[in-house]
Amino acid sequence: MKDQNCIFCKIANGEIPSRTIYEDEQFRIFLDLAPASKGHALIVPKEHYANLFVLPDELAADAMRLAKRQAADMKEKLCCDGFQLVQNNGESAGQTVFHFHLHLIPRYRNDGQTIAWEPGNLSAEELDAVKAQILS
Ligand code: AMP
Ligand code: ZN
Repeated sequence: MKDQNCIFCKIANGEIPSRTIYEDEQFRIFLDLAPASKGHALIVPKEHYANLFVLPDELAADAMRLAKRQAADMKEKLCCDGFQLVQNNGESAGQTVFHFHLHLIPRYRNDGQTIAWEPGNLSAEELDAVKAQILS
């Protein structure tokens, strides 16, 4: 299913041009317009799924397989030093386009980019409480 108001539906299905670096029946991979680093790309399914929670299991598995293959190829071609996979779900997590996508972000020594979080500081009791909540 496609969403007529969704920009990634339009890009993934070729209605809007993109700098495509891979395409198959299920996915398109294209360069991010505001890249965090040289080669920053997005894996986007051609069908509309808003986020990870509604993505079918099989497509999620295929997306990760594709990410692995594409990252290896890009690492070789771009000679990057490291590689980050980022996937945001929900506004609070930084999601701005509500069509599932997986960021492929090549990293270079001294690239000056920060894709990170402030390390927290929970007591053992607090960590135990979190664990209990998740397991409840
Ligand atoms: P997120 O914040 O995880 O939802 O990521 C959305 C990403 O889509 C951002 O990195 C944007 O730079 C990128 N983006 C938005 N519109 C376009 C577009 N038309 N073509 C390529 N990338 C886009
Ligand atoms: Zn969409």
